[in-house]
Amino acid sequence: IVSRDAYNQSHYKKTKPKKPTAEQKKVIDHLISSFDNKDLTPCLIRGVTGSGKTEVFLQVIDYIIAKGKSAIVLVPEISLTPQMTERFVGRFGGLVSVLHSGLSLGERYDEWQKILNGSVKVVVGARSAVFAPFDNLGIIIIDEEHEGTYKSEISPYYHVREIAIQRSKNEGALVVLSSATPLITTYCKAESGKYKLFEMENRYNFSDMPAVEIVDMRRELELGNKTVFGNKLLAELEINIKNGEQAILFHNRRGFNSFVMCRSCGTVLTCDNCSISLTYHKYHGRLKCHYCGFERDNATQCPSCNSPYIRYMGMGTEKIEEDIIKLFGEDSFIRMDGDTTSGKNSHEIILRKFERENIPILLGTQMVTKGLDFPNVTLVGVILADLALNTDDYRAAERTFSQLIQVCGRAGRGDLLGRAVIQTYQPEHYALRLAKEHNYIEFYQHEIAIRKQLFFPPYCDIVMLLMQGEDENSIIKELVAIATKLKGKCHAMLGPVAAPYARIKNKYRWRILLKCRDTNKLLPFLQTILQEHSNSENNLTIDINPNSMN
Ligand SMILES: [Zn+2]
Ligand SMILES: [Zn+2]
Repeated sequence: IVSRDAYNQSHYKKTKPKKPTAEQKKVIDHLISSFDNKDLTPCLIRGVTGSGKTEVFLQVIDYIIAKGKSAIVLVPEISLTPQMTERFVGRFGGLVSVLHSGLSLGERYDEWQKILNGSVKVVVGARSAVFAPFDNLGIIIIDEEHEGTYKSEISPYYHVREIAIQRSKNEGALVVLSSATPLITTYCKAESGKYKLFEMENRYNFSDMPAVEIVDMRRELELGNKTVFGNKLLAELEINIKNGEQAILFHNRRGFNSFVMCRSCGTVLTCDNCSISLTYHKYHGRLKCHYCGFERDNATQCPSCNSPYIRYMGMGTEKIEEDIIKLFGEDSFIRMDGDTTSGKNSHEIILRKFERENIPILLGTQMVTKGLDFPNVTLVGVILADLALNTDDYRAAERTFSQLIQVCGRAGRGDLLGRAVIQTYQPEHYALRLAKEHNYIEFYQHEIAIRKQLFFPPYCDIVMLLMQGEDENSIIKELVAIATKLKGKCHAMLGPVAAPYARIKNKYRWRILLKCRDTNKLLPFLQTILQEHSNSENNLTIDINPNSMN
């Protein structure tokens, strides 16, 4: 029998266990004794970026395999974490199966067979790998547990954490959650004793956390600097290039300009199918919708008033790229975003090129904030931290803090000291101030107090009833009827109102938001509503604590 080798293992160097630090050793010993004593309370490891959590996983799994059991390691996205995968394959070789979305059906079948017949002991994979059919499961590790990708928002709907805890109960496996910035809701469970908490405060090589500087871009404007780069970031980039060191620049918006507006009448150019502004992609000279893929030629005049005065606003990575070329030349950077990573293995190719050719700057969207571990990266620049902060979501501060901690954590992981520059128009915001101090605990305390005061999760659940369809009036009619039935059944109700993205792919979207103290009690009622509307021409979904309320 010839088995397809889905993950080319040939280019992985075999690695040996490293001697753990005292902090690592403590966590390893605790996890092993929990496993030995069949104490299945879920564990949360909060470890600063670079604290060596992966080595902890490797050594615990090594022990568990020796005891005849198997392990599932979940990562947010395989393609974004090639280095993590590399370490698992490097340590356990052919005992590892890597499940990723790039596998063909045949390859996926082969990997599944290897799990079933016991030739594979460790599965590393994204979300759906939580279902890996081991019959002797010993441990499930959910790395970067704060990531939204662990929730499946397409059918089948599930959350990895809930499946893992269910498997733990049924199969006697230990569940370990891990992050530098656990979700507020997760950390709250650890604080209240529902999870066991392990804190790793130091980097495994005892290097310092990067020194973070926050730059007030309002001040830059006063000084007459209208470019994307404040003086501080520019100076640091110059130093870095002179020293032959590397930098990561993060900007969470692709394209050239994120919206295009008529200066005469104020009309913003939107997608034909969605109520979403079109993004200008200069390279192709096209306007594109990032939601449905609609595109058109660049506009030379306003579709409403025919004015030729068109203004381009909101910068994306393509615009920043243009500035980098002007400042540092064509060969100074490599860009990683949705537009440069559509090909097979393109993430890996870009990251390898960045490392091997010692390219000075890696520029990208949130793809560059996660999991990367390059010893020569000494500088991280956040072009505009406000993007995540200015969203209308109760988790905006949490997500901003988490993103900043993660991306700043890419700097100074080797022998060289790291530093980070965060550019913003809101330098006094607590999420930024505490990210600068790498102070998760204080951020948590600040945030949980706000959640309590304003009654948001973990103090309640947010339940979103979203209805989509072609006829707006019939949606409103149906939702009003539902709202009437829901009255008095939950703590608070908002809506029905048009969703922030009021139309996507030619479907109108309206929603009701509920704040529920006891969602379990409401579930049968919600199920009845779903049942009653299953034959409607409009599509109703009910999502508890949705990743996005747009
Ligand atoms: Zn106009
Ligand atoms: Zn669209």
